Amino acid sequence: MQSIPRDTKKERDVKKEEHLIVYTKHLEKRLRNLETEISLLEAERIKLEKELNDLRYEFDQLRKPALMNATIIDVLDDRNNRAIVTSSSGPSFVVKINQNLKSEKLTAGMSVALNQNTLKIVEILPTNLDPFVKGMELIDSIPDISYQDVGGLEDQIQEVKETVELPLKNPDVFKRIGVDPPKGVLFFGPPGTGKTLLAKAVAHETDATFIRVISSELVQKFIGEGARYVREIFNLARQKAPTILFIDELDAIAAERMEDATSGDREVQRTLMQLMAELDGFDNRGDVKFIGATNRADILDPALLRPGRFDRIIEFPIPDDKAREAIFKVHMRALNIQKDVNLNALVNLTKMATGADIKAICTEAGMFAIRRDADIITKEDFSDAINKIMNIDKIKSSRPEFFI
Ligand code: ATP
Repeated sequence: MQSIPRDTKKERDVKKEEHLIVYTKHLEKRLRNLETEISLLEAERIKLEKELNDLRYEFDQLRKPALMNATIIDVLDDRNNRAIVTSSSGPSFVVKINQNLKSEKLTAGMSVALNQNTLKIVEILPTNLDPFVKGMELIDSIPDISYQDVGGLEDQIQEVKETVELPLKNPDVFKRIGVDPPKGVLFFGPPGTGKTLLAKAVAHETDATFIRVISSELVQKFIGEGARYVREIFNLARQKAPTILFIDELDAIAAERMEDATSGDREVQRTLMQLMAELDGFDNRGDVKFIGATNRADILDPALLRPGRFDRIIEFPIPDDKAREAIFKVHMRALNIQKDVNLNALVNLTKMATGADIKAICTEAGMFAIRRDADIITKEDFSDAINKIMNIDKIKSSRPEFFI
C-alpha cells in the first residue's frame, strides 16, 4: 500500500504563514468594525447627554417661579444699579438690575422681566406690540395735510412751529442754548376748531408718524386694560419715531380727581397715572412729541400740566370774522363756484360757526348743486347749506336775506 506523501517542513511553514495572514486580516476587520461601533456609541452618548441636559434645564425652569412683567420708568443714576419700574399689576417699585445686564442698555419704557422673589430685573423682553394696538386704526403714517390747509390759526401755527416743529427738526438749537423744549403741548378749544387738523399738519411738516389716541375710547373699549394700552401705544410711538402722539379728549381720563372715587373712576385714574408715567419716561429732546387736546382745560388734573408733561397750552377759539374768511378760502379752493358768491356775506352769515361747520357748509353747498344737476355752485346753494348746517332754518324759514 502506497503511503500518503506528507508535507515537508517548509511546506508546513508556508501554510502556517498563509493561515496567519488570513487570521490577521480577519482580526483587522473586526477591529475596524469595533472602532466604528465605538464611534456610533460615542455619538449616541453625546446625544443622550444633551437630551439629559435639556430635560434637566426644563425641569429647573419648571421649578423656578414665573417671572413678572414690568416696564421701566427710570434708570437711577446712583451707582447701585437700580431702576424704577411699574409692574403689570399696577404698583411701582425701585428694583435692582441683575449684574449680567448693563444698566446703560436699559431705557425708560422698556419691557423687562423681574424675578418674583427678589424683584430683580433679570431679562430684557422684546417689545412685542399688542395685536389689538397694532390693529387699531390710530396710525396715519405721514398725514397729507399742510399748514396751507389750516385757515385763520396763524398764532397757533407759529406757536406749534416753535414748540413742536423746531425741536423735532433742529434739536441742536436747544442743546446749544441749553434749554429744554416742551415735551408736550395742550390744544384746547371747542369741537371742530382745528385741533386735530393742526396736529396732523405739524406731523406732515416734520415727516413724523401721526398717532391719534382717543382717551374716552381707551377707558370704554379696554375696561380694566386702559393702563396697559397706554403703555403699548407709547411703545408704538417709540418704534415709529419721529412721532407726533395726539391724545384727543384728554379730559376723559384727566379730569381732576374726586374724593369719593368709584371703581370706574379708579380705572380712569390708573390710566391717567400710566399716561403720566409714560410721559415722564420720555426725553424733552427726543423725537417723540405729545399733543393733548381737550374742550375742557378747566377740569384737567393740574398734575398733567406740570413741566415735563403738557407744559404749553395753546388755545383754539371759535374763529372770528377774519379767521372764518381764511377757513372759507381753504375749503372753497377746490370748488367750482359762481363769481357772484360773496365771501364777506358768507363770513357775516356764519358767526359762531367753527372750522368744521364751514367745511360742512362748503360740502353741503356742493351737494345742493349736484342735486340740481348743475356744474357750478351758486349763492342759493350756499344759502341753503348755511341754513341746514347752522340750523337757522328753525328760527327763520326763508333763505338768509343777504343773498336774496
Ligand atoms: P374735536 O375737539 O371734536 O376733536 P377738533 O378741534 O380736533 O375737534 P378738527 O377735527 O381739527 O377739530 O376739525 C374737523 C374738520 O374741520 C377738519 O378736518 C377741517 O376740515 C375743518 N376745520 C376745522 N378747523 C379748521 C381750520 N382752522 N381751517 C381749515 N379747516 C378747519
